[in-house]
Amino acid sequence: MSDVILVLNAGSSSIKFAVYPIDADATPVIRGKIAGIGRAPVFSPFDGKDVALDKGELSNLDGAVNHEAIVAMLLTWLQHHEGDTTLVAVGHRVVHGGRNFTAPALIDDAALRELEQLAPLAPLHQPHNLAAIRAVAAWQANLPQVACFDTSFHRTQSRLAQLFALPRDLSDEGIIRYGFHGLSYDYIASILPQHLGERADGRVIVAHLGNGASMCAMKNRKSVATSMGFTALDGLMMGRRCGALDAGVVLYLMQHKGMSAAEVEHLLYRKSGLLGVSEISNNMHVLEESDTPQAREAIDLFCYRAASVLCGLVSAIGGLDALVFTAGIGENSDHIRSLICQRLAWLGVDLDESANCANATRISRAASQVDVLVVPTDEEVVIATATRALVG
Ligand code: ADP
Repeated sequence: MSDVILVLNAGSSSIKFAVYPIDADATPVIRGKIAGIGRAPVFSPFDGKDVALDKGELSNLDGAVNHEAIVAMLLTWLQHHEGDTTLVAVGHRVVHGGRNFTAPALIDDAALRELEQLAPLAPLHQPHNLAAIRAVAAWQANLPQVACFDTSFHRTQSRLAQLFALPRDLSDEGIIRYGFHGLSYDYIASILPQHLGERADGRVIVAHLGNGASMCAMKNRKSVATSMGFTALDGLMMGRRCGALDAGVVLYLMQHKGMSAAEVEHLLYRKSGLLGVSEISNNMHVLEESDTPQAREAIDLFCYRAASVLCGLVSAIGGLDALVFTAGIGENSDHIRSLICQRLAWLGVDLDESANCANATRISRAASQVDVLVVPTDEEVVIATATRALVG
């Protein structure tokens, strides 16, 4: 009998999972994803050698099944597929840890209640993250569960980097810039020395460009500044989210267009970004295949905003030694990387287009002042490592 830990990364419409041996092995023995939750869920499980596994009762999932029920079914499915192993702990991605959760934490009832209070700050993610925790607790109440927060990585930032220019009492009660995608940045920071040697501890910006998108400026592989703020709505243009927006637009929508808070939330989180501007899709790959002017404009705006946000972050770290692209768009779209880098030539970014087209790890020319890399992220391995550390 060997002990294993399960990692759950529950997003708004998908749940990624991975089962790791308890000893320090970075390779999962089972991993997979349930995508399309709420519409037409599709389960794709694989073993450690990337061979597809039998889906069993999860082969025909109903669109009406919620996250909690899917996690319960997944736990039962895993019991049948884990073979001669014992599940000893579950590690979760939790998007918002607020001010108090500055490191991974074992979850008890009090912690769960505190994290529930943060749900309005991450309405797209936090409720689903917590639903997964509740489903595991209902399945086996005494199984240790660890929450790993997307906000924790950014708690090394200075007070200035975290403040809004709002009245002091609001900052004191926690209306500050928290930052997100911290598990992804943590992973990239951990493997940067493999690619950059001593320059890894220099001035580095990591661009996590997925459906959700943000950037993090690091020095000594610690977060100095980031583009997301109080919520995951700030900063870059995203698949469906608008990114940074003049707060006056929100007031105008409510006061002069009669929109309710719920309608504005829906507009800014679900109807904006690439989808809103292109009127076609939130999916970058689809927009790249499209020849409409709206798709072109959405792509151009995405890259324009990415370059201008990046330049703001450069000032926080006093220059730029390396730029790292990661996540779905960052890892796969040579076109987007090229468009962003063209706007950064004045900073000393000199892209090697053939290396970029080949999706090489290093995509800058040898003479480029800034090293440009493509590094796949792995949030699950960060969660597994933290879970091992906490459950011993
Ligand atoms: P999430 O934030 O949901 O984890 P991902 O990191 O999986 O998102 O990124 C999803 C995005 O990556 C989508 O916009 C998708 O179109 C884009 N993407 C994935 N592969 C490609 C590709 N080959 N070319 C362009 N975009 C891609």
